[in-house]
Amino acid sequence: MWNQESSWNTGDSAHNPSMSAMGIFRQPTNSSGVRVSHELTMRLRFRPGLNRWIRDWVVLEWGAVYLDRQGEIEMARILVPSITPERPVRRGHSPFSVYLIFLVALFSVRGWSQSLVIKDVTVIDATGRAAEPHSTVVIDGDHIVAVSRSKKTHLPQNAVIVDGTGKFLIPGLWDMHVHGASDTRAPWSHLLFVANGVVGVRDMSGPPDANAWRATQASNPDPSPTIYLGSPIVDGPNPAWPDSIVVANEAQGREVVDQLQQRGADFIKVYSGLSRNAYFAIADEAKKRDIPFEGHVPDAVTAAEASGAGQKSIEHLTQVAEGCSKEEKTIAAERQRLEASFRAPDATMPQKIAAGQNIIRLNFHVVESFDEATAQSLFAQFVKNGTWQTPTLTLLQGQIDDPLSTNDPRLQYLSKEVRAKWDAGYYSHFPPPARAAMVQLAKAEFDESKKIVALMYRMGVPILAGTDTMNPHCLPGFGIHDELAFLVDAGLPPLAALQAATRNAAQFMGQQSRRGTIEVGKTADLVLLDKDPLADIHNTSSIQAVVLNGKLFPRAVLDAMLTKAQTLAGIPDAAAAPGK
Ligand SMILES: [Zn+2]
Repeated sequence: MWNQESSWNTGDSAHNPSMSAMGIFRQPTNSSGVRVSHELTMRLRFRPGLNRWIRDWVVLEWGAVYLDRQGEIEMARILVPSITPERPVRRGHSPFSVYLIFLVALFSVRGWSQSLVIKDVTVIDATGRAAEPHSTVVIDGDHIVAVSRSKKTHLPQNAVIVDGTGKFLIPGLWDMHVHGASDTRAPWSHLLFVANGVVGVRDMSGPPDANAWRATQASNPDPSPTIYLGSPIVDGPNPAWPDSIVVANEAQGREVVDQLQQRGADFIKVYSGLSRNAYFAIADEAKKRDIPFEGHVPDAVTAAEASGAGQKSIEHLTQVAEGCSKEEKTIAAERQRLEASFRAPDATMPQKIAAGQNIIRLNFHVVESFDEATAQSLFAQFVKNGTWQTPTLTLLQGQIDDPLSTNDPRLQYLSKEVRAKWDAGYYSHFPPPARAAMVQLAKAEFDESKKIVALMYRMGVPILAGTDTMNPHCLPGFGIHDELAFLVDAGLPPLAALQAATRNAAQFMGQQSRRGTIEVGKTADLVLLDKDPLADIHNTSSIQAVVLNGKLFPRAVLDAMLTKAQTLAGIPDAAAAPGK
C-alpha cells in the first residue's frame, strides 16, 4: 500500500488543496498490493511553485514520474517493495534491481510530452507500398506530421530522437477479437496488450452500458489500447454465457438493438443460439439504425444468409465450413435432429452419448465434404456484400492442444484463476474416447480453416487478425503475434497478415483516415522492431519500442509493464475474466 501524507515529500504541490480539488495533481496509485517498506523521493529539478508546472504524470509499478510543461522530468517518486516470505518480489528483482529498472524507465520516458523523431528507419507503412529504408518519421503530439526519405526533413527543436538504424517501423497492431479488455477484473491485460505492440482491440463482449464504462476509463492511470467496444453477447434462450442478453423473438431483437445503441455500443455482438426470427429482426433494425452487427453466424442461419443480411464480420468461420459443403442443407437438417435428441428431456445417457458421437461424425463429414466451387461461390458473396472474416486461428489451434502445454514462458503473466481454467482445457469433462475424437476433429477443422483462409485471401475476402484472447491458449497481447504467424502459415504473404492487424482493422471500423497505416495525419500508433517482419512474420515480436498516441514506450518501460501485469495477475480474483 502507499504510505500516505507522512512520507510524501514533494514540496507544496501535493498539499495544495486547490490542486487536489481540481484533480490535476493525483496521488500515484498502487493497486498491486505490493507492500512498501520504504520510499525514496527524488526531486531532480525542484522549482518553487511546482504545482504550476506539472502537466503530465506517469504511474509505474514502483512510483511515478512527473513532467513539466516542457516535458522535462520535474520529480520522481520511487517505491521499493518489501520482501516478505509470503509475498516475494518477482524472481530476479531485488529491491536494488527494481530501483535500477525504474531509473531506466524514468529516463526513457523523458520524451512523453515532446515531439518525437524516429530516424533512419525502414518504414513498412502497411498501405501496400514496398518497405522504405532510411526514412524519418516525425511525430508531433499524437499525430504523424512527416514521413520522409529526405535528409533535409525539418526536425522540431528539442525533439526526442530515436535512432532507427537497422530497425523496422510498422503501424501499431489491433487484435480484432478479444474478451476481457473492458472487464475491470482484468486490468493487467491492457499492459500485456501495449507491451506487445497492440494499440487497439475489438472487445467482443462489452459491458451493458458502454457509455458508463467509457466514463470510468478516464481515471485509469495505466496506458491502455483503444477499445472498439461491442455490446454484451446477444444470444437466444439458454445462452452459452451467463452475462449474455437473451433475445427470444423479433420484438425483443429490435428493442435490444435500440437500447444497446443508446448505451453507446460500437456494434451489436450476435451469437450462435439466436433464432432465425430474432436474428433477422436484429439485422433489419441494425441496418435501419446504422449500427453494425458482428459475431457468430447463428446455428439456425447459413453464412450466405448472414452475409446477405449485412452481418459485418463473421467470427471463427462460424457456419463457413458448412457453407463450403455441397451438402449444407442436409447437414443442417441432420444437425438439428441430433441436437434435439441430445437435448430431449427424456433422453437416456446411452442415447445422449450416441447423439454426441453422431454430432462429432457429422462435423467430420462437414470437413470431408468441402467443395472448392461451392466455397468460391460463397466467398464471392462475402466480397460482394463486404462481409469481413476474423478466422481466429489462434483459438482454433488452441482447441487441438489437450492438455494445454505448460512450458510456454508467457503463461507467467496470467492469473492462477485463468491458468486453472486453461489447464482444464476444452475437453476435461468428456470421457477419454470422446476426448480423443474431439482433438482429432479440432485438428481436421484447423487444417480446413487454413485452407479456407488461403482461398478467401486469394479471392479478396477482407480478413481481420483476431485471437479470441482469454480463451485457452489465446494470450492477451502475445497472441496477436501468434495469429499473424498462423495467417502466414495458412498462405497469406507477411505483408497481408500485417495489414490484417493494421490497415484492415482501421478500414473495418471506418477509421482509415485516422489509423492503420504510417502516413502523415494518422495517429502515431507505431511499433519499432529489431528485425524485418516481411522476412519472417515472427519478427513482429522483436519489439524495441511502442508509440501509443504519440507517446514513446521504450523497451525498458515495456518490460516494467510486463512486470506490473505479472504482479496484478498474482492478486486473487483480479483476473477471472471469461472467454467467449
Ligand atoms: Zn470470442
